[in-house]
Amino acid sequence: MKAWRLNARREFRLEDVPLPEIKPGWALVKVRVVQVAVVDRGLVEGMPHPHQARITRMLSEGNPVTPGHEYCGEVVQIGPGVTTLKLGDRVSSTGGHMHCGTCSMCRSGRQSLCLSPISMGVEIPGAFAEYMSVPEWGLVKIPDGPTDNEVAAFQPLGICVGNVRGAGIRMGDTVVVMGQGAMGLGCLQVAKVAGAGQLIGVDVRTEALDLSRDFGANAVVNSSEADPVKEVRKLTVDVGPDVVIEAAGGRVEDGLAGLRTLQQAIQMVRTGGKIIQIANLEGLLELDPVLMRSKNISLVFPSGGGAEALRYAAFLVATKRVKVEPQISHVMHGLEKVPEAMEITANKVKYRATNPVQIVV
Ligand SMILES: [Zn+2]
Repeated sequence: MKAWRLNARREFRLEDVPLPEIKPGWALVKVRVVQVAVVDRGLVEGMPHPHQARITRMLSEGNPVTPGHEYCGEVVQIGPGVTTLKLGDRVSSTGGHMHCGTCSMCRSGRQSLCLSPISMGVEIPGAFAEYMSVPEWGLVKIPDGPTDNEVAAFQPLGICVGNVRGAGIRMGDTVVVMGQGAMGLGCLQVAKVAGAGQLIGVDVRTEALDLSRDFGANAVVNSSEADPVKEVRKLTVDVGPDVVIEAAGGRVEDGLAGLRTLQQAIQMVRTGGKIIQIANLEGLLELDPVLMRSKNISLVFPSGGGAEALRYAAFLVATKRVKVEPQISHVMHGLEKVPEAMEITANKVKYRATNPVQIVV
């Protein structure tokens, strides 16, 4: 079969490799659609990320890494001992956050806080391949209804579910979502389901703000034209929002907002409010602890939510309460398109992409 392999830093190639072995309790999954996550290119190129040390260890031990964890697949073979899957089942995975099943957190039922998580795309060869072998507990069955392309977008939507749950939104809360990319738009819609009152979308791109309105924002702020702190304060009659979800920050050279949006979130949130940090931020942040203490701000980094959140994300799309289809702007065919897909995904502003690029395998 064909699979992309990172054999050493920057040695990333499409290769012919044997079909993966199916261990007891594992299943062979044929990849139908894979979505190229922003983080995939970062992992290949060695950019800072919590998984990076594990990739370095894999490579130093001579184990190639196949990225890819946002996908729609089909079970085509099952290993001995598998009881919950059958041939033809459509599946996806929580991907980057698969629990080990044996650590103290897992044994106490807190799998989403696993101390030694294994990740599809790091320890488990991922979905930039025609087939992959995945443990039964790492696969989530997806019912009929959503398209394969929609299913490939469920993993990040599941993380949105986990993050919005971490916000503890109460009915009527004012929620600001900074950044209207795939994560921001997912969080915006899930926050609406969770009972948010006034929903405000912030971005620098007009087309992203149009999507934001379509997906339920009552007001939008273009932060390239106006100061988002002032505008949000105005929209909230000088009180500030109950919850700010920060999904805009990250590498400035990738068109993201750096650390600025988290600073803005701290300034705009109401006294006693909560900030949910989603974007992968790089570097050290200067925080004003006096301001944070005097405003009694909670700055929260929720966990991704796990398999149950992914199932709920699938339910939300199947019941048409959340949409992912309008975001899927770029679909390519064939695994050889991975480098092109990575380039577009890493420069979404330049290529006018909202969602990561998808590849039909
Ligand atoms: Zn564990």
